[in-house]
Amino acid sequence: MISSLNVYFGNLDNEKPETKYTLKIINPSEFEVSESFGVAKVEDYTWKQLMDSDACTRCGRCQDNCPAWLTEKPLSPKKLVNDIKDNMDERMPKLMLADDPASVETTPLIDGSVLADEFWSCTNCGACMEACPVNIEHVQKMIDMRRYKVLMEGDMAPELQTTFQNLENNFNPYGFAFAERGAWLPADLGVKTIAEDQEVDYLYFVGSAASYDKRSQKIAIAFLKILQKAGVKVGILGAEEADSGDAAIRGGNEYLFHALMTQNLENFNAYGLKKIICTCPHDYNVIKKEYKKFAAVGIGSDGNPLKHEFEECHHTEIISELIKSGKIKLVNSLDHTVTYHDSCFLGRYNEIYSQPRDILKAIPGVQFVEMSRHHDTSFCCGAGGARMFLEEHLGTRVNQFRTKDAQSTGATRLCTACPFCMTMLSDGIIELDIQNMECYDVAEYVYNAMEK
Ligand code: SF4
Ligand code: SF4
Repeated sequence: MISSLNVYFGNLDNEKPETKYTLKIINPSEFEVSESFGVAKVEDYTWKQLMDSDACTRCGRCQDNCPAWLTEKPLSPKKLVNDIKDNMDERMPKLMLADDPASVETTPLIDGSVLADEFWSCTNCGACMEACPVNIEHVQKMIDMRRYKVLMEGDMAPELQTTFQNLENNFNPYGFAFAERGAWLPADLGVKTIAEDQEVDYLYFVGSAASYDKRSQKIAIAFLKILQKAGVKVGILGAEEADSGDAAIRGGNEYLFHALMTQNLENFNAYGLKKIICTCPHDYNVIKKEYKKFAAVGIGSDGNPLKHEFEECHHTEIISELIKSGKIKLVNSLDHTVTYHDSCFLGRYNEIYSQPRDILKAIPGVQFVEMSRHHDTSFCCGAGGARMFLEEHLGTRVNQFRTKDAQSTGATRLCTACPFCMTMLSDGIIELDIQNMECYDVAEYVYNAMEK
């Protein structure tokens, strides 16, 4: 009965890629008046979140697809949901009968029913929610507990604390100087900052990875060369760009997320930007979804309302269109067996599955093979949910689990479309000492195959 009701009252946002799995935003005005953020007690959850917990049929599909569970972390999404329900069943009757709710003592939710290692193990990959037959939303429940830990107790792993400090001081998670954010851009590409030239087809939101990480910069340069060849004009924000804030919101630091998001939205608004391209699916997803929610309630530093009047594209969408329209011609044969890894934030979160595959299949000589887990049942690389910036002390390594999936296809090339996946899978190839496999972004593969 509760399971059916849960489906009936299911979050309709999750039925459209434009809004699927969007996190709840803390209204900025709450930072002025509220005394507590996130969830510490079961009654802090919404009625719908509690109904969710009661709706579980214990089918185990979420657990069977969870990268944390399958790599021996202490997180099972099935157990998590049922532990929240048990806590609710113990606490709620006592709360209802109590004259003074503050005096009610029951098993604590955090570090009682649910251990911190459980919710910090989550990569936010969405596999549990995709598999659940009764539409239970696991990720928001864990983000809510992370928010409590970070915002109320300042309790987080030291490496995540350093990441947040870097984001606060230099607007990137690595700690490099913010003024150097645009320094990676080769002058011969003819790309200018938006401050210099606003007559562009798109803003390229470079993101922190491609701004500072050498491997990711190769992807950005390959992509810009493709655009240059196709006659598509883009600009970048350079030092005016801040990190998108994906790691901040998913790491539970909503306050920091608001600051980063406000800086970016103010620039998008000030320059009147209407089209934005990202090569990082995390940036693409958060700018498309959580920025939109925030803009509906957020106020800029000048006191004016923020706006979300632009559309986002991922670079695989653009490249796919350029190939279809004939603006890019793929002429060089790349005689490889190629498999493709779906980034969770591109695939499950935004249902961009066909474009990267169409691109790879259009390249002469490519023999395309799927991994056993692909499309909506794809398996995380281990970097989502701010885990890119957390040590993996527990269980076995998620990136190696996924790299073995790729290895078992017999492919010699592993392609992806996310800088975090690139890092995790490249590390997996090295850690497993796989000699005959190399990892590339789809953009690099296209650049190698196209007519120059
Ligand atoms: S989002 Fe992914 S890692 Fe987190 S509980 Fe669900 S399946 Fe597991
Ligand atoms: S998939 Fe949904 S119903 Fe099945 S065990 Fe997981 S949470 Fe419960």
